[in-house]
Amino acid sequence: MTWRVGVLGATGAVGQKMIQHLAGHPWFRITELAASERSAGKPYFDAVKWHQEAAIPAEVAGLEVKATLPDLECDFVLSALDSHVAGPVEEAFAAAGYPVISNSRNHRMDDDVPLVIPEVNPDHLDMIPWQKQRRGFTSGYLMTNPNCSTVGLALALKPLHDAFGVEEVFVVTMQALSGAGYPGVPALDAHENVIPFISGEEEKMQTEPRKILGRLGDNGVDFADLRLSAQCNRVPVIDGHLESVTVRLKKKASPAEVSHVLASFSGEPQRLGLPTAPEHPILVSHEHDRPQPRRDRDAGKGMSISVGRIRACSIADVKFTLLVHNTVRGAAGAAILNAELLADRGMLPHRDRVEANSDEDVVAEEQV
Ligand code: NAP
Repeated sequence: MTWRVGVLGATGAVGQKMIQHLAGHPWFRITELAASERSAGKPYFDAVKWHQEAAIPAEVAGLEVKATLPDLECDFVLSALDSHVAGPVEEAFAAAGYPVISNSRNHRMDDDVPLVIPEVNPDHLDMIPWQKQRRGFTSGYLMTNPNCSTVGLALALKPLHDAFGVEEVFVVTMQALSGAGYPGVPALDAHENVIPFISGEEEKMQTEPRKILGRLGDNGVDFADLRLSAQCNRVPVIDGHLESVTVRLKKKASPAEVSHVLASFSGEPQRLGLPTAPEHPILVSHEHDRPQPRRDRDAGKGMSISVGRIRACSIADVKFTLLVHNTVRGAAGAAILNAELLADRGMLPHRDRVEANSDEDVVAEEQV
């Protein structure tokens, strides 16, 4: 059983990673690529400035890039659209019957849209029927994955929250250049420099984890009762966001207990054996100088986060350093893993069958 995938924003940094990670996927096959008017109508190899290490997968190189209109031949779409345009485009696709799995910020905090990390809050998918009913969607719906820095932070906080309760979090990020898309930060700003500001990033890190770690109630998610303070910096690294995290816990725990809880964490994707799930979502390193972006970002094919330097904090309880591959676990891989979870749960209908069934419904109604 395979599903046909459309990639919206296929020419961008995240879109390219999606294409790279979908090559040879056992369940999903790319049938459509879409991007802006600048790219539409061109073959993909001509429209894209490809900057991945491996070559463009042969099966997509010659595909024509389409406009982002909801008439694509696919069962669902992965969206890596620029957030300036993603909101209404994604809604139009959902309204037209396509499940939309998005990287963009636009719908993440909508109260009827799940913001999901499959290891952390797969139960939040249960709000999708409510969303469909509320918005009058038929087979389509909206689902999102978090901001790239938030994915790493929320993955590390989940086992701590379950075991000890998390009260307060202070996080300082050192975020890679690829997080700003392509071409991203101008060379004269990035080279030999650190920029202590990323628009909107601190706000996302302070709110998204509370939704992800929250409990699903009758009217959406009751946000987790924890306080977060984030400071975000852009640093001259290509890929991999490093985060210095300090946590105050409700129930006191030693660094060794924290280390054990993090290292033994696994979730539904591991239990189900989803194709993109890493064996260990959190890898704990014991070297005094790890994790490091260049050396550790590809752990678990970019889907494991690395946590190290777990130690007591003289002001709060515990502090550590974490690393998340921002365009893989923080974006493309996160969306693909969400799609795998939906497929496993039977929540990705095949559109030809949906269309055939709705035609049959129409005929049946007319006959009645
Ligand atoms: P990007 O490299 O700038 O790519 C943006 C994509 O959007 C391109 O395919 C572009 O097509 C398309 N696009 C731009 N304007 C459009 C329009 N008017 N109509 C239709 N398509 C349009 O950005 P990115 O870094 O891949 O990020 C994509 C999304 O993922 C953003 O919402 C971003 O916030 C989010 N995200 C990024 C990261 C990361 O690490 N980079 C992580 C998590 C989430 P053209 O090439 O034709 O212009």
